[in-house]
Amino acid sequence: MTAAHDPPILCSTDPSRLLPVNFNFDNRFINELPGDPEEGPRRRQVHGACWSRVLPTPVVAPRLLAWSPEVANLLDLSAEEVASAEFAEVFAGNRQLPGMRPYAACYGGHQFGNWAGQLGDGRAINLGEAINHAGQRWDLQLKGAGPTPYARRADGRAVLRSSIREFLCSEAMHHLGVPTTRALSLMATGEPVLRDMMYDGNPRHEPGAVVCRVAPSFIRFGNFEIPSSRGDLELLAGLVDFTLARDFPEIVGDDLNDKRARWFAEVCARTARMVAHWMRVGFVHGVMNTDNMSILGLTIDYGPYGWIDNYDPDWTPNTTDEENRRYRFGQQAQIAHWNLSRLAQALEPLFPAAEPLRAGLDCFVQVFIEEHSRMMAAKFGIAAPRDGDGELIAEALGLLQQAEVDMTLFFRALALVEPSAPSLEPLREAFYREDPMRRHEAAFHAWLARYGERIRAAGEPPEARRDRMNAVNPRYVLRNYLAQEAIDLAEQGDLSRVHELLEVMRRPYDEQPEYARHAGKRPDWARNQPGCSMLSCSS
Ligand code: AMP
Ligand code: MG
Repeated sequence: MTAAHDPPILCSTDPSRLLPVNFNFDNRFINELPGDPEEGPRRRQVHGACWSRVLPTPVVAPRLLAWSPEVANLLDLSAEEVASAEFAEVFAGNRQLPGMRPYAACYGGHQFGNWAGQLGDGRAINLGEAINHAGQRWDLQLKGAGPTPYARRADGRAVLRSSIREFLCSEAMHHLGVPTTRALSLMATGEPVLRDMMYDGNPRHEPGAVVCRVAPSFIRFGNFEIPSSRGDLELLAGLVDFTLARDFPEIVGDDLNDKRARWFAEVCARTARMVAHWMRVGFVHGVMNTDNMSILGLTIDYGPYGWIDNYDPDWTPNTTDEENRRYRFGQQAQIAHWNLSRLAQALEPLFPAAEPLRAGLDCFVQVFIEEHSRMMAAKFGIAAPRDGDGELIAEALGLLQQAEVDMTLFFRALALVEPSAPSLEPLREAFYREDPMRRHEAAFHAWLARYGERIRAAGEPPEARRDRMNAVNPRYVLRNYLAQEAIDLAEQGDLSRVHELLEVMRRPYDEQPEYARHAGKRPDWARNQPGCSMLSCSS
């Protein structure tokens, strides 16, 4: 098994190697929930069923481009097994291992605030629920593996650029400590995919790819919304109780109503923690539709997401959302709450009274405020928050926004500020432009004086404070321009940057001086560049 810090990550496939067929599958989702009697990818509305049997569509030339050693480890796969020809075949969708029963799930969703009806896994195909040696359940899902009944008018495929973004970001988020789905492998298909990336009437052929995503469950809010919207309360109740039993086994008791109520509150609490982490690391999901919300509170569906460079709560990476900015950085908690309210609405017919659902939503607010305040205080090096810290923090965030300061660089540099003689010097490299820096210099000095006083009052040795801050303030995040540079090279056939970024992002809180070039602020050329500051949903 590859140890955590081994040099990565050879991607040559050795045809003499075989993938041992010792995966242990226990496919509870399809064994315990009703399925669609029709098989295959014919596009249709699917009623009375949670899933439809459909096989991945084979591709001409599967080739392993990258893989995650940590996820392989979770699945008890060795580096040799990942390098086998069979691995490439299986995880590009060309054949199935014994026990794999591929299917697409039926779900609906609210997109940009409006009910969109049936959506479903349009290009995601679940292979099976693998049980590892420790008894953990890992659902394996191919994204980009061909059309399903839920593909509507689209092709079921995914392009290399969006697949690289999903692969790298899910692993980066994990190593940052943010709840997320994982990614085992990034596979080239050898087939072109036609996309109009900026929706401006200039479609082009792009290389296709398939990512194998891995999570304990891929159930989304939208899986509950679709049966509820159709008045199919039997299916809804079956799915709720299945989810309780499989995905929340810790919620026990004889009173079903009480269990369902505690479950909803738990979903709210997990969602709150997830969004608090997003705010801590500067992640903007970009498409927080209810079909993109995991019931486990995992970050899911990496599309036009982005990372905050200069701190700006109004920023959204998603060009489709440019006008309303519904999914902007600073509004993610409110949107999560709105999405949970849609889930509550879908569940309401199962509850004898609405009160437990209201209590769950209140739980979101409470947990988010607690977690967000705790994490923000920790980012500023405040171990034991007290009255007045909220204002100190809010004032700093206001200054960061007005003065165009890089979020990630600011917090790492703040750990270097001497509380006895607080100076702006360590922070200067975090500013994007001279002018706003000069304009706000006096305000920063005044703030730093108060900050120094606050830190001195805590009486902590400077190294201890620095270590605590550096454990919550990453040195490395997957800045949009970094991912884009890796994509540009990969499209020329050079995967080295993808591998390098995966390697860096495995230890995002460590200095890693050899990779310092990936810690710098966004270069000027990337300010308004497609893929760097503007992303479309085209993927
Ligand atoms: P997204 O905006 O990626 O979350 O996707 C919304 C819906 O569109 C989901 O049902 C997806 O499965 C489906 N979808 C997106 N892209 C494709 C595609 N290329 N082929 C088939 N379905 C797709
Ligand atoms: Mg989606």
